[in-house]
Amino acid sequence: MKLETYNKKRDFSKTAEPEGKTAKSGKELRFVVQKHDASRLHYDFRLEIDGVLISWAVPKGPSADTSVKRLAVQTEDHPMSYIDFEGLIPKGQYGGGTVMVWDIGTFHAEGYEDRKESHQALKKQLKDGDIKVVLNGEKMKGSWHIFRLKDKEKEWLLVKGKDEYANAEEEFDQHSVLTGRDLAQIEQNIQKGSLKKKLLSLLKM
Ligand code: MN
Repeated sequence: MKLETYNKKRDFSKTAEPEGKTAKSGKELRFVVQKHDASRLHYDFRLEIDGVLISWAVPKGPSADTSVKRLAVQTEDHPMSYIDFEGLIPKGQYGGGTVMVWDIGTFHAEGYEDRKESHQALKKQLKDGDIKVVLNGEKMKGSWHIFRLKDKEKEWLLVKGKDEYANAEEEFDQHSVLTGRDLAQIEQNIQKGSLKKKLLSLLKM
């Protein structure tokens, strides 16, 4: 069972995070990046492959500069229902701290427009430790590569592929794509605006 580790690490009577179950995938594969202010601030990059969110913790977050390779440490698979989790994990619980939905969207394997072929390719790429995707997020767009370091089990590098979205001048926005809040506002549980309709429909896919 893929989500065994995820479930073991958490006490669902104490955390608001969802319990782990595998899910059938929808029309398009989805990804999420969650900014996580835990013992150390990091970004959790998660790709839907085979009914779960394959996950990496990226300490410095993604960079649009194609010459910058960001360390991405693979963590336990997360359930699809985690994709819109934003809020607080209680102190003392695993991953205790604030979680923001930093980016969300759909994706496919680079060079595979067909949903089924894309998914097949991704399963193989995951096994081989060399994943090339086209992201359609609010912040992360176009070609991105994530590949495992030689002779390493959990250490990967995340790098922007060369395309029209590469080397953008401006920095990524640091608010939630779901609620527009920054980390402090999420921590204080300040509600701001309403969920964006387009993103909401994505969550229901
Ligand atoms: Mn995390």
